[in-house]
Parts: sequence; C-alpha cells; structure tokens
Amino acid sequence: MKKFDISIIGGGIVGLATAMYAKEKYPEKTICVFEKENILAKHQTGNNSGVIHAGIYYQPNSQKAKFCWPGSLLLRKFCDQNEIEYEMCGKLIIATKEDEIERLNNLHERGLKNGVEGLELIDKQKIKEIEPYVEAIKGLWSPNTGIIDYKKLTEAYANIFNNNGGLILKNHELMNIEENDKSLILETNIGEYETNYLINCSGLFADRVAKMMDLDFDVRIVPFRGEYYTLTNESEKMVNGLIYPVPDPDLPFLGVHFTKRINGEVEAGPNAVMAYSREGYKKFDINLKDMYESFSYPGFWKMVKSNWKTGLSEQYRSLNKLKFVKSLQTLIPSISSQDLTNPGAGVRAQAIDKNGNLLQDFSIVKTNNSLHVLSAPSPGATSSLKIAEHLMKEITI
Ligand SMILES: Cc1cc2nc3c(=O)[nH]c(=O)nc-3n(C[C@H](O)[C@H](O)[C@H](O)COP(=O)(O)OP(=O)(O)OC[C@H]3O[C@@H](n4cnc5c(N)ncnc54)[C@H](O)[C@@H]3O)c2cc1C
Repeated sequence: MKKFDISIIGGGIVGLATAMYAKEKYPEKTICVFEKENILAKHQTGNNSGVIHAGIYYQPNSQKAKFCWPGSLLLRKFCDQNEIEYEMCGKLIIATKEDEIERLNNLHERGLKNGVEGLELIDKQKIKEIEPYVEAIKGLWSPNTGIIDYKKLTEAYANIFNNNGGLILKNHELMNIEENDKSLILETNIGEYETNYLINCSGLFADRVAKMMDLDFDVRIVPFRGEYYTLTNESEKMVNGLIYPVPDPDLPFLGVHFTKRINGEVEAGPNAVMAYSREGYKKFDINLKDMYESFSYPGFWKMVKSNWKTGLSEQYRSLNKLKFVKSLQTLIPSISSQDLTNPGAGVRAQAIDKNGNLLQDFSIVKTNNSLHVLSAPSPGATSSLKIAEHLMKEITI
C-alpha cells in the first residue's frame, strides 16, 4: 500500500495553497492531494465571484479579519511573481437610503480597524465619476479590492507543488478512513493508501470527511446556492467595477450586487437559497443523502426557525426574475430584465452549529494526527495563502 507523510483531501484553492506551503516547509516529506473530480477547483473555487476582497466587513479580531487584508496582499505578490492576471478595479459600497448611512460609516470604521488601506467615504458626485449609472447618497470606495480567476490561481499553486515533488491524485474520492496505532488508512474509490497525517480541505464535504475519522465537531454543512445572471454585452458598460449594497449585519451574505469578472463579463446577484444537494448547481438538483444530513440535524431546524422570513424572500426572488431585478434597481435604477441573461449558480458551504447559528468565521480544528478546515466561506479564496500559512503553524508532524 502506498504511504504518504501528509495527505490533503480536496483539490480546491485551500487544499492546493496548503499543499504548496507544506511541500515548501517539508521538502523531504511525501505529500499527496486527493481530489474526487478529474479537474482541480471544480466546486466552490471554480464557481465563485472572483473577487479579491480587501477585508472591510469582518468582525475585528476574527480569523476572517486577520487573514483577509494580509491574505490579499500575499495573493497579489504571488500573482506578480508568477505572472497571473488580476485587476484592482475597486469596489463601491453604496447607501441609497438615509438609514443606511450610519451602517456605511460603521463599515468604514470596521475596515480601518481591520487594516484595510485606501478606504474613502465619498459623496454623490464622486460616486457618479466612478460608477455613472449608480444612484446613491453616500459611498464607501475601496480601491484595494480587485478581481481574478481563482481557477488559474489554484492551478498555479498546483504547478509549484508538483514541480517541488508533490503528488496530486485526481479522480480519487475518499470514502472512508480507518485509524490504527500509527497511521490512517484512506479508502478511496480507486484503492487504499496510508498516511501519517491528514489535512481536510474538502469544502462542501468537510463535516463528512471529519466524521470518517469518527470526529464530530457538531458543525453541519448546509449548501446554499448563490444564483446570478450575466449582463448582456450591451449592458456591461453600466458597471465599471464592483458595486455592493450596505449589507444586513445579521446575515453572512452580502446582498445582491454587481461583479465585474476578469474576462470582462459582469454578474448580477447572488440570491442565496438553500440547495437540496451539496453540489446542486441547478434549481431542482436533489441528493437524498445530503438532504437527510441537513434535515436530521437539530441545528438545521433552529436555523430555519430564526431565518424563515429571509429564506422565503430569497426563494421568492429565486423564482421571480422581476423581484430579482427590483433588488438590482436599488443599485442601478435603469437596469431592466432585458439586461440580464445566462442564469448561473455557485454552491457555498454554509456551516451551522447545533444551536442553529450560521458560522460567520473560518473554522479550523486539529487533533493529534489531523487538521480540519471545517468552514472556509468567502473570503476564503482571497485568504487562501494566509489560511495555508496558519495551517502550517498548527500542523504537528
Ligand atoms: C458563490 C460563491 C462566491 C464566492 N465568492 C468569493 C469571492 O469573490 N472571493 C473570495 O475570496 N471567496 C469567495 N467565495 C469563497 C471561496 O470560493 C471559498 O472560500 C473557497 O473556494 C474554498 O475553497 P476550498 O478549497 O475550501 O473548497 P472547494 O473549492 O469546494 O474545494 C474542495 C474540494 O474538495 C473535493 N472533495 C470533497 N470531498 C472529497 C472527497 N471525499 N474526496 C476527495 N475530494 C473531495 C471537492 O471535489 C473540491 O474540489 C465564494 C464562494 C461561493 C460558493
């Protein structure tokens, strides 16, 4: 049976950043990434919004706050050194009603506390200079927010890992883990492997992989589909960069917004609706095992109880394009249904605890022979190098 010193489960951006740093830290160790798909970055990483977040929103001293701004700087440096395209197009967060101004000011304060540089509160006139189609009364301008293709970044991490002697086994799905005194036996769809140490970076399946080691951290992943439209070619001119509303402080989602992509397209969304499959990219995709795992978890029903109104409203908007357009019109009043085409979706892993709380922060836990990234929601891609750096400090090998 083939044996590795370190095995990383999951070939998304967190898994590959971790693999790259692990091989740098332990050049003599054998390190392998197991990925169930035939390509890397097929799930959250490959379907995300492609934003290099600056770190404005996050609770000061949370891991998100600690990792995002420095993570974005590390990422930009990595891209400069490895000739990976990115664009600092900037982001505008706008208040459209008087009662949003205080929240916008608080956001500014929070961004400053989190160390984000370049933030500026701006008036109507400056807003119009940056985004002529936006109607707002006050804005928060973040010039240090940018855009990138995270699939390409993941591939760049993978190339460095490979060139340094790391191994990536695609089409290898981890099905079960047996533990003996000295090591872990990884049972995959292809065969068995032995490892001394395991790092779980399996995204939407992080709780399930932890359970394979009989670990129950009392966190369950509930999948949420983020649905968006693309602006037609003619309408792209209405958006120069990233345009966001002031977010609802009680929700982990940022509200529907406009996102310029690195390929020049503009996305509008996302709606956040519960998915009935962890990899359910279409509205009616269903996976009975995934549904059972959500519905049988007591925390799920507590979450439903405290969020049912928002949930219903998001469901309604998911089925009603006009409602979707109405939300977008609070940012750009002249946008209409005809400007929106090509609906698409990404699925995010939303971790909830047994009390039904939506986990807002990253969640990383360790045992004597394993590390588990239980929750790495947005800005996980921006923070990938910082998360990997943190894992390298936690690893005990
Ligand atoms: C819609 C959406 C928009 C987002 N926008 C942004 C953004 O603009 N900026 C940002 O910074 N972050 C964003 N994020 C968050 C970001 O995408 C995630 O933080 C990041 O991709 C997490 O990476 P990951 O490697 O942990 O997970 P993933 O990319 O999901 O990778 C996990 C991998 O594990 C594999 N896997 C799972 N189970 C097994 C198994 N049993 N055996 C083998 N392999 C397995 C999967 O196939 C997958 O490839 C967004 C997320 C979503 C969903």
